[in-house]
Amino acid sequence: MFDAKEYRRRYYASHKEAAYKAYREWIAVHPEKRREYDQRYSRTCTLSHPEKNREKNRRWRLAHPEANRERLRQWDKLHPESARLRGPRRRAHLASVVATLTHSDWLELCWQHQMACVYCGVFGPLTIDHIIPISKGGPHIKENIVPACRSCNSRKGNKPEAQFKRANPKGKERKVN
Ligand SMILES: [Zn+2]
Repeated sequence: MFDAKEYRRRYYASHKEAAYKAYREWIAVHPEKRREYDQRYSRTCTLSHPEKNREKNRRWRLAHPEANRERLRQWDKLHPESARLRGPRRRAHLASVVATLTHSDWLELCWQHQMACVYCGVFGPLTIDHIIPISKGGPHIKENIVPACRSCNSRKGNKPEAQFKRANPKGKERKVN
């Protein structure tokens, strides 16, 4: 019986060079198609072989630690908001607590608090603050998180929210714009 798929596979295997040459010629004439084709092809591969792909990426990271760090640095520079989420998420995973906070959860929380620190009310770069700290078993979920400025977050440290507020009774009144 004629198997079209098998035929194509065998044809490609025996005409690899010619097929590749034809592809090179085609992209030379249609350079704009190149990116589109490459993207679609790599996405298909990634989606259809997730484990294989993860393994490949893992090996690449191990073989190129420097390049990997540089790549992460570049990514963080382009996505500062997401970059700030990575640290706490990592700590949550290491402490094996529940971690379901998504980027949109975080943005929603920031909007709910008018983009201001819950402790001092200052506007500016906000960091994730766990009401019950991760080190005390607090989960990394929306309900256990409030946005805090860097200075309040580091002053609060590992204290639970209530304890920190008692130590800083003025809290929200100290509004600095
Ligand atoms: Zn603050």
